[in-house]
Amino acid sequence: MYESIEALSAACAGCDRCRLASGRTNLVFGVGDPKADVLFVGEGPGYQEDQQGEPFVGPSGQLLDKYLAAIDLDREHGVYIANIVKCRPPQNRDPQPDEQDICLQWLREQVRVLRPKVIVCLGRIAAQKLIDPEFRVTRQHGQFIDKKGTLMMGTFHPAALLRNPPQKADAFDDFLALRDKLKELGLYPLSE
Ligand code: SF4
Repeated sequence: MYESIEALSAACAGCDRCRLASGRTNLVFGVGDPKADVLFVGEGPGYQEDQQGEPFVGPSGQLLDKYLAAIDLDREHGVYIANIVKCRPPQNRDPQPDEQDICLQWLREQVRVLRPKVIVCLGRIAAQKLIDPEFRVTRQHGQFIDKKGTLMMGTFHPAALLRNPPQKADAFDDFLALRDKLKELGLYPLSE
């Protein structure tokens, strides 16, 4: 049991519980506000994230930051950003099911310590792992589902939006829906 996100991060730092440990430059635990109401979850670190040890720092991270800024959020205030797996899969392949299952223990602890009100899954891998194994992002994005008292929503992964710009409008609508949901919950603007 860890009492703080910092203690949890320190415990995770040397993790070698799955094969992804051997290929990492840096473990990418997560970043953001220890009192976050909103947790964003992607699938895993890419090259830039592995190099810098922080999630969503490459071009897709810049796009995520733009969407956050559009609804007056940022990664330092009220928001935490993490991934299903904390170490970069080789050649940016999808994290394999057993790697996801092993690493999920860290994400579960992050959720237990942070106790976010809303979890936003960025992309198919995270949404299928956390919301529904059959989740289809193109059909179900932007829908909020209550799972044991935590609202869950899936939207497009920013990297997918960079590959397919016409979907950016739908993703933007999802962020507006997130803002509206936070207002409805009395959480907006998010506390610092
Ligand atoms: S991906 Fe997760 S479980 Fe695997 S070594 Fe990294 S932190 Fe540990």
